[in-house]
Parts: sequence; C-alpha cells; structure tokens
Amino acid sequence: MPYRTIIEPFRIHTVQAIDLPTLPQRREAIERAGYNLFGLHADEVIIDLLTDSGTGAMSSRQWAGMMVGDESYAGSRSYFRFRDVIQDITGFSEVIPTHQGRAAEKILFTTVVTEGQVVPNNTHFDTTRANVEYQNAEARDLVIAEGRDPAAEHPFKGNMDVEALIDLVEDVGRDKVPVVMVTVTNNSGGGQPVSMANLRAVRDVCDTYDIPLFLDACRFAENAWFIKQREKGYADRTPKEIAQEMFSLADGATMSAKKDGLSNIGGFLAMNDEALAQECRNLLILTEGFPTYGGLAGYDLEAIAQGLTEVLQEEYLQYRIRSTAYLADKVGAAGVPIVRPPGGHAVYLDAKEFLPHIPAHQYPAQSLAVELYLEGGVRGVEIGSVMFGKPQADGSELPAPMELVRLAVPRRTYTQSHIDYVGEVVIAVAERSDDMRGYRILEQAPWLRHFTATFEPL
Ligand SMILES: *Cc1c(COP(=O)(O)O)cnc(C)c1O
Repeated sequence: MPYRTIIEPFRIHTVQAIDLPTLPQRREAIERAGYNLFGLHADEVIIDLLTDSGTGAMSSRQWAGMMVGDESYAGSRSYFRFRDVIQDITGFSEVIPTHQGRAAEKILFTTVVTEGQVVPNNTHFDTTRANVEYQNAEARDLVIAEGRDPAAEHPFKGNMDVEALIDLVEDVGRDKVPVVMVTVTNNSGGGQPVSMANLRAVRDVCDTYDIPLFLDACRFAENAWFIKQREKGYADRTPKEIAQEMFSLADGATMSAKKDGLSNIGGFLAMNDEALAQECRNLLILTEGFPTYGGLAGYDLEAIAQGLTEVLQEEYLQYRIRSTAYLADKVGAAGVPIVRPPGGHAVYLDAKEFLPHIPAHQYPAQSLAVELYLEGGVRGVEIGSVMFGKPQADGSELPAPMELVRLAVPRRTYTQSHIDYVGEVVIAVAERSDDMRGYRILEQAPWLRHFTATFEPL
C-alpha cells in the first residue's frame, strides 16, 4: 500500500467497555493490592498490557468455528481439522492437543528428560525452566551475548550461541543432553527473533551428536515475519512458507495456542517420532484427556485451527509487528530508554536507565510499573529484581541482571489510539521520574513471589 499508516486489518464487530477509574480510585486500588499489579481487579485497569497470552480477540470466523465444534469424546471432526492445519504448517506427523503450552512441556520433559541431564535453550521461558527442573535436570540458557544487552542492536537477538552449545555437549557428554530447545521468538529475552541460519546451524549440531531438536513455537508466526523482513533471501517468501521451513529443521515442537494460535486457551505437542508420541499420549490420557481432545473442548480445537490459519496472513503480521514497533518508536523518540530493537509482542522499558537514582534492592522496575498505573491506569509487568532477585544467606539479595517493565500488546485488541494513549502515559511518567521512589517488600512467598508479594513505598 502506498500510504504510510498501516491500518488495523479488521473492523470491530463486538465491543467490550473499558472502565475508566479516576486517579483517587486508582490510588485506593493499588494501595489495597499492596502495590502489586497482579492484585488489581481487571476492571480497575484502563489498558491492560500485563500479558499477550490468551488476551487477544478472536475473529468472527473463529467464533463461527466454535458453533460447528464437534464435542464427540473420541475422533471428533474438530480434532481432524486441528490436526490437518498443524500438519500442514509444521510437517509433523504426530499432533497431540493440550490445554496449554506448559502441559505440552510437562508431557515432553517427563518422557524424554531424566535426573542429572541438561536441556539447552536460547532462553527458557519460566514454565519451561520449571518443567525441566521438576525432572531434577538443569535448564541452561545459551542465547548470544547481544541477546543479554538491552542496548545492543542486532536483527536476531534471540539466536542461540552455537559454539556454546557445542561446548556444552562436549563438556557434559551427548548422553546428558536429551533434547535441544529453541524458543521462537525468544520471549524471556525480549521477544527477539531467531534467524533461519541460526536454526540451521543448531540443526547441524543436533545432527552431529544425534540429539533431537524441539521448537518452543509459541510465537512462530511473529518469528517468520521477522525472518521475512530481516534475513537475506526470504523477502519474497510467504510467512507460511517460512514457518514450514523453520519447522522442517526441527523434530518436534511445543506450542501455546494462547499466543500465535490467536485463541484464549489451548496448546499442542507435535513431533515425527511415532514411538515417542505413543509414550506422550499415554501420559496425556492420564493428565489431559483422550488423544483427540487433550484437555480442550471440540470448539477450542476449531478456534485454534482457524487462528493458526489467520496468524500467518501477511496483513495481520504486518499490523501486529508494526503496532508494537509503533509504541517503541513513540516512547523512544521522547528519550525513554527501552530494549532495542523492539520485539514482536512487547515493548520493554529499561528501568535501570529510567530511574538511575533507585538502587536494585529498592526495585526500580516495580516503582515504574506502579507509576504507569497511577498515571494512566496502564498495567505492565515488572521483570526485574522482584521477579528474579535471589535472596542470599546473609539476608541481602542478588539483583536481577536487568530491571525491565514489559508492556505486552494483546493481539487484535487495542486500536492505535489506545497505543497513543499508552505512549503519552509513559512519557508523562518519564517527565517526573526524578521524584519517583523505590519500594520495600512487606510480605513474600518462598517462590514465584512476584505474583503475591506486597510492598510499601519508601
Ligand atoms: C506462554 C509460553 C509458554 C507456556 O504456555 P502456556 O500456554 O502459558 O502454558 C511456553 N513458552 C513460551 C515461550 C511462552 O511464551
């Protein structure tokens, strides 16, 4: 299109009202929640950027699909549609539905990982790490050095450090590495993409040592779009062709349909190894359900099958990636420090740069997240020392490597004016950042404390 503005490639058919709590109401709400944004009621939030997981809008075709969902216990028509769409995109022969991505991870790792082994990944997502560690195995992150530096510009900051992968296998021995995982896009590393060349190099290592390669494919379509835009030789290929090539380099995948499945629930595990799939299905029956529904309703299978088709449309992906970059450009132009370049699903504000006067043990990213809520009812999430700080024996705390606030953009949910509003809120907070204070933790749980901790402003 010759025009500059990339429009939302849809029109709105059903609307949900947004409540507009006033500043005094927001103050009262955040105090009640102990200054923890997870403790807010969603109705107290104006623009909710807590996560892009399961928060997107479904299309009229997805809702129509739900009406023709086949709820048969075994052999449902909806399962075969789900299977066919996934086989077409991934090329994997075995398709196992699960209720979420983490259920696919649990089944895969229970089947292939044993105590004392090591699973490499570019960066493990938190549930992936937890599921590896639950098997008493080690989850090792091997992202390239640029992927750990917020300011470093690199087109594929999610790439795996291939030399480090070889060193790891040589060091611990092939028998201790049951599977190699690559997360596309690299969620915990800022939603950064992985190049096809890198996937191919990882595949070569896996071939050399005869280790299976699985993709954590939650954002495979966003990754395919970045490859189309940034990698030589892919500009004229369709997102679907690129996704097919990505999957052709792997032996299997885990997937959360709450991301690039454009659905509110669901996931799957897919692979080529028939014997392994049989073992996985045996576990599936124990924990999820019969292999043709796996913890989902027939109508969910329909919504996901349709969502996986829509997510690969060029107009959708162009709008999707542009709407995230648009927010990054807007706040970046005003001098707000962010992780560069912006990832596919979120903009990450760099609170260490934003609030240099607040030390890590006073949680600068928590302070920034609370302030965005007070200023404009915008809810992001702290990804810093509240989430990843490590308590030490002497009562002090080892800070997280980065202090970030993630603003995740739900799919097809907010319009450009909502995003303009978020940009204005961020900029307004930046203008008075000198006056902002740190926080002290009042109460915390022994693990995953960020969900329930309460705070007090200093
Ligand atoms: C969300 C996510 C998962 C887990 O999926 P759920 O559906 O939330 O269980 C795993 N890996 C990545 C990269 C994710 O983003």
